[in-house]
Amino acid sequence: MNGELEFEPLGQAEYCDDDEPPSGGKYDRYVDSANYLEVKNHSAKAFPINDNTQSFIKKFYPGVTNEEWNSWRWQLKNSITSIKHLIKFIELTPQEIEAIDNPHHSLPLRITPYYASLIGRDNERDPIRRCMVPTINELLLSKGESSDPLEEQHYSPVPNLVHRYPDRVLFLTTGFCSAYCRYCTRSHMVAKDKCHVGVEAWQPALEYIRNHSEVRDVLVSGGDPLTMSDSHIEYLLQNLRAIKHVEIIRIGTKVPVVLPQRITHNLLRILKQYHPLYISIHFAHPAELTPETAEACARLANIGIPLGSQTVLLKGINDNVDTMKRLMQGLLKIRVRPYYIYQCDPIPGSNHFRTKVSKGIEIIKGLRGFTTGYAVPTFVIDAPGGGGKIPLLPEYFQGEIDGKVILKNYEDKTFYYPNPID
Ligand code: SF4
Repeated sequence: MNGELEFEPLGQAEYCDDDEPPSGGKYDRYVDSANYLEVKNHSAKAFPINDNTQSFIKKFYPGVTNEEWNSWRWQLKNSITSIKHLIKFIELTPQEIEAIDNPHHSLPLRITPYYASLIGRDNERDPIRRCMVPTINELLLSKGESSDPLEEQHYSPVPNLVHRYPDRVLFLTTGFCSAYCRYCTRSHMVAKDKCHVGVEAWQPALEYIRNHSEVRDVLVSGGDPLTMSDSHIEYLLQNLRAIKHVEIIRIGTKVPVVLPQRITHNLLRILKQYHPLYISIHFAHPAELTPETAEACARLANIGIPLGSQTVLLKGINDNVDTMKRLMQGLLKIRVRPYYIYQCDPIPGSNHFRTKVSKGIEIIKGLRGFTTGYAVPTFVIDAPGGGGKIPLLPEYFQGEIDGKVILKNYEDKTFYYPNPID
């Protein structure tokens, strides 16, 4: 099946899907319900495979069928997790080899074959390669870096839940991701047990939300919640939606970018039952805007889910106006509204990824006025120490003089607005 590649079977500890929710009977409806025919018919629509990825499959996975390639479980089971696999696709630098083999880096290596097909294999500066492949820079601790820079543990009243803001909570539902970003804020928790935590571990968090009527918004994150099985996702959404004071549910994910095949019609059938549901998708670079990701986003948008983007500002990857503009404009074309650009959090070994804060302001300044307002996200720093997100803006407001507000426009020209008289 795998042509010239040999794959190690995925260990039970790395990806578990057997801790199904209790009262399993009702989950049988995925195969028995009246919707099944509809789901089956929809499934007939093939998932796209872009031309570069087609060439990649031909070269590295010659025996793999389109059906296998487009199976999200196949993608997970065949993910690249070792040098032995990675070296088949990429000529690694000595620094990369040393880093991958080093037991001290905080995150293991994991890349789906699909996402690996997007990497420029001969270029060690390739943006996706830099996001995914460890380097020895990760092993250097710089001043001010910490494994939990946002001090989420201080705001965690029960396991797997962070309650920092008055009316919303962060629900950390799994430690598993289909691809591990080298700059991950939650590197202290993701991939640590290499496994979904299971529904029993969610009970204290669910109980906390039930008992706190001020919580009107739950952000389901992790790890990546869309890597869980359909039955787990439905169990979670059902339980959250059953809580009357939970008005909206948001999901944070990178799956449409690294594992777009996961957006199956059966998953869509589940998601569309739990509106109002919002999804924030983690994008890093315009190279991620493929027909596969466009299809995944179209499927989600077509069932009425508003999609937003989150992008971490990364040195040498997306830290210039042109790259960010292409990304933000491209996102609008696939129906994703640019939402946040984050200053990279100071996790251990992140210095090589972090830009000066002024770079983010410069990028916003280069977007605002120069492209449609929908393409301009908010630039924020998640304040170290648990201060929450702080937006940073170019200085458009310059003060007040003689009852007039002094304003600078996007071209740095000065204008005055007459304030009303009290
Ligand atoms: S997908 Fe998100 S949670 Fe997972 S490694 Fe990347 S940044 Fe971290």
